[in-house]
Amino acid sequence: MVFARGVRKSFGAVEVLKGIDLNVPTGSVACVIGPSGSGKSTFLRCINHLEEVSGGVLLVDGEFVGYDLRHGKLYEVNNKLLCQRRADIGMVFQSFNLFSHMTALENLIEAPIMVKGMSKAEAKDKAHALLERVGLSAKADAYPRQLSGGQQQRVAIARALAMNPKVLLFDEPTSALDPELVGEVLVVMRDLAESGMTMVVVTHEIGFAREVGDQLIFMDRGVVEERGEPREMIANPQSPRTREFLSHVL
Ligand code: ATP
Ligand code: MG
Repeated sequence: MVFARGVRKSFGAVEVLKGIDLNVPTGSVACVIGPSGSGKSTFLRCINHLEEVSGGVLLVDGEFVGYDLRHGKLYEVNNKLLCQRRADIGMVFQSFNLFSHMTALENLIEAPIMVKGMSKAEAKDKAHALLERVGLSAKADAYPRQLSGGQQQRVAIARALAMNPKVLLFDEPTSALDPELVGEVLVVMRDLAESGMTMVVVTHEIGFAREVGDQLIFMDRGVVEERGEPREMIANPQSPRTREFLSHVL
């Protein structure tokens, strides 16, 4: 699970996150929406400690990612431990971020071998199974440039899954895609949600949030302006700012 309480983040004098609370129970899906610059990506990056929080508490699976608590004090963990903990937190980006000089299969086996010390044979078996799961078993030997955006994003999801993450974070995974390719990625994400994956999804796909999300969070200017059960909140937003935002994306 992901647990955030009062999470703050400043860049210099600018406070971008002003006390974010979030509780994503194991096996559930939280969708995050909000205008550009509201702090959605920053919050996701805080979850896997790509950004260090300036205040508050953030736990993944009951643990601080970048710290250890000893005798009531927080200590920064060493790089090796940080890598191990981050391995439990998969992240999927808007721009796919595949290794361009590697085939789909090579993209999938790199981290399990390098970070988890998996044998090449085992990593390959697992990679083939994951490519099949995202509907790309025929593309194992293709390079990213030979794949459509939707296919690249499905490889990126499979690559995140190759590490057996406890949590998957998605940062606008379909925003860079041509409209006709969005569906194939959402189908994979829905399938993951149904299989019990714990997910935090920043998205403007309101239909996905409504049908797959267990909770919906509307972030605005670094705060959670409104949260609720997605269907209810979309049908009947309480805050005028939520209402206005939804009127633009629906
Ligand atoms: P978008 O919908 O455009 O992706 P967002 O909600 O993801 O927006 P963030 O990328 O989290 O917003 O940015 C929130 C604010 O923090 C912005 O004002 C941004 O300029 C600022 N910011 C983000 N990263 C940094 C950084 N490394 N240094 C300074 N400011 C930053
Ligand atoms: Mg963003």
